Amino acid sequence: MVNTPTSAATGIHWPALPHPTNALLLALQYQLERSQWCTPEQLQQQQSLQLQALVTHAQNSVPFYQQRLQHFPNLNQSKFSLDIFRQIPILKRSELQQSNKNFRSSALPKDHLPIHQLRTSGSTGAPVDIIGTQVTELFFRAFNLRNHLWHQRNFSGKLAIIQIQTDREYKQKARSLNWVEAFPSGQVVEFDTGQTIQQQLLWIQQEQPDYLLTYPSNLKALIEQAQTQGNSLSSLQGISTFGELVTPTLRQLVRESLKLEIIDVYSAKDAGIIALQCPKDFHYHIQSEGIYVEILDNENQPCASGEVGRVVVTPLHNYAMPLLRYEIGDYAEVGHACPCGRGLPVLNQIYGRQRNMLVLPTGEKIWPKFILSNWAKMGPIRQIQAIQQNRSQIEVKLVIDRPLIDIEEKQLHQKISEDFDNKFQILLQYVDEIPRTSGGKYEDFICEVS
Ligand SMILES: [Zn+2]
Repeated sequence: MVNTPTSAATGIHWPALPHPTNALLLALQYQLERSQWCTPEQLQQQQSLQLQALVTHAQNSVPFYQQRLQHFPNLNQSKFSLDIFRQIPILKRSELQQSNKNFRSSALPKDHLPIHQLRTSGSTGAPVDIIGTQVTELFFRAFNLRNHLWHQRNFSGKLAIIQIQTDREYKQKARSLNWVEAFPSGQVVEFDTGQTIQQQLLWIQQEQPDYLLTYPSNLKALIEQAQTQGNSLSSLQGISTFGELVTPTLRQLVRESLKLEIIDVYSAKDAGIIALQCPKDFHYHIQSEGIYVEILDNENQPCASGEVGRVVVTPLHNYAMPLLRYEIGDYAEVGHACPCGRGLPVLNQIYGRQRNMLVLPTGEKIWPKFILSNWAKMGPIRQIQAIQQNRSQIEVKLVIDRPLIDIEEKQLHQKISEDFDNKFQILLQYVDEIPRTSGGKYEDFICEVS
């Protein structure tokens, strides 16, 4: 089926004459359709031009960078290159917290107005305020639209979103028309992860959506509950996730129970959409037209294909609050060029934050290899989370439907201990609930060792 954009002119249906706001979005889409097939070198050339403009703006009007880049060569010269750009020191979240206000530009171009706040709460408590503009918002919407087009969604379908809702916003947008911007599309309905899984399932059955967008952990809980109750989620034609790690186990669960494939989006509140899942594969394409992404090893050198490193981003168009080489705290594995032919760089897998790494008694850090669902299967366990408290001890929090009998507890204890190579003392702790982080994420494993 051909999707014709929404037309705004009286009596004109095809080809559409879109409203100016939508026309901008479609003009961007036209360029994105082409740029995705550019070679990596061509993409870098364009990124370099955009970075030069952004860095110059930051040097001229952002107090933090006026100071940080004062001994730097004047980057507003023809010799600017990505190699020069990569000499800019990496920006830590703590620096952004400490001098938050100094990141605001005093000379925001008028055509970037209005601005809006993208508050992020931050796992360590101290909030970081990030300002976005009309331009960053436009790019966010453009990559969203690209995602719908890449995955050939049926625009007339109904989309259900289940995520953390703040009261006021939720009531305003709980039900609205049109989830695909610039095109005629179906209804979008929203629900709150604060409701029980049971309530969420009931709501889905009332709404009968074609598409569902939610956090991976919430999706997993929904499917498991639906299975135990014999409920079906059969109205769904597509499943999308965001905000947390999508494990191969979860992909498998969705494949087996719903005969669908998860389409995941890698985004961050302070950086926008970073990467979208390839239409032909399970890995991700960096959205190079909106963001410059580096995956760096411990020596701050770029990782090669197959290596895991820290994600460092530079959003290309945020002139209200430029962030140059900002380390967002995630880790990712670099991929090879994609057989689909797109030149947009590939990330094989996105890993959680650094605090999701395990610290061995020797002080070495590794990614823990356990599969949480294997533990959860060993008893009437509803939720489970492991927290490393020090180099020798791991506390495992459990939400249970009934008390475990002795043998269940003993086997569970033994299995967890083995999964950590018997290197840690394991404490089981029964709790009423395991809350999400304030950013809406639910983490399998948290390391509290500094
Ligand atoms: Zn691809």
